[in-house]
Amino acid sequence: MDLGIRGKRALVCAGSKGLGRGCAEALAEAGVDLVLNARGTEALEAAATAMRDRFGVDVITVAADITSPEGRAEVLAAAGAVDILVTNAGGPPPGHWPDWEREDFIRALDANMLTPIALMKALLPGMIDRGWGRVVNITSASVKSPIGVLGLSNSARAGLTGYVAGTARQVAPHGVIINNLLPGIHDTDRAEALDAGVMKAENITREAARAQRMAGIPARRYGSPADFGAACAFLCSQQAAFIVGQNLLVDGGAFNSTL
Ligand code: NAP
Repeated sequence: MDLGIRGKRALVCAGSKGLGRGCAEALAEAGVDLVLNARGTEALEAAATAMRDRFGVDVITVAADITSPEGRAEVLAAAGAVDILVTNAGGPPPGHWPDWEREDFIRALDANMLTPIALMKALLPGMIDRGWGRVVNITSASVKSPIGVLGLSNSARAGLTGYVAGTARQVAPHGVIINNLLPGIHDTDRAEALDAGVMKAENITREAARAQRMAGIPARRYGSPADFGAACAFLCSQQAAFIVGQNLLVDGGAFNSTL
């Protein structure tokens, strides 16, 4: 399908690996030029080179911590006017509710709620002026179905979801479309880390931990960054212009519900 976004320019945050990279690759495949961010230079440059070589798009890299004010300023300065924004950052660490202090919540809120909000605040006005824009926030399936050990993530992402619900409807009249993509379990470094948590907690092998987690997924596999990226590129397409303020699960059917 031609997504109608060839020649547009996208900022993809936290995009050198995992889900962010899946989104960046799917946009590059659709002909979108990229501003690609992550903290580590090596994986970032390798990802950028791979996408330039494979898809022939322009890729600017900005190595910076997107969750810090300085890092965001650097990224935004390099990005300039972008048509598409994909917000993402590493997720908060797992833990147990009695152990979380105010500072733990502040860190999680900063990374997974206030960072995407700051990026939208900076970039939505330009999109509104130009009469076209797309924002996809990578959140989590935990927004719909809380994950006990990820209480910091449950909390921060719920806050972002509330913000998007209201804001998406205020910018839609200007041709600017905001939606959230909710990953279930995908095969990335993050999933490896969470597998390791299950291995430790239950004293089982990696294979047993993955089998246990896959048993809860009707598709009986973890998602891939490419699965996730395809959904992201569609939400950034011309065709998605009437999908406003939604929360789309990409989870292989793991969330069991009729609606
Ligand atoms: P990942 O494989 O660990 O990849 C993280 C990517 O983000 C890397 O490119 C990393 O590069 C970059 N990054 C991390 N923190 C950053 C920061 N502060 N500033 C800039 N770049 C940063 O993670 P993932 O699995 O793709 O997950 C992406 C998001 O989806 C996370 O918030 C995660 O909690 C959420 N999620 C994932 C799953 C899953 O199953 N994978 C499920 C639900 C939710 P550097 O380290 O070099 O910065």
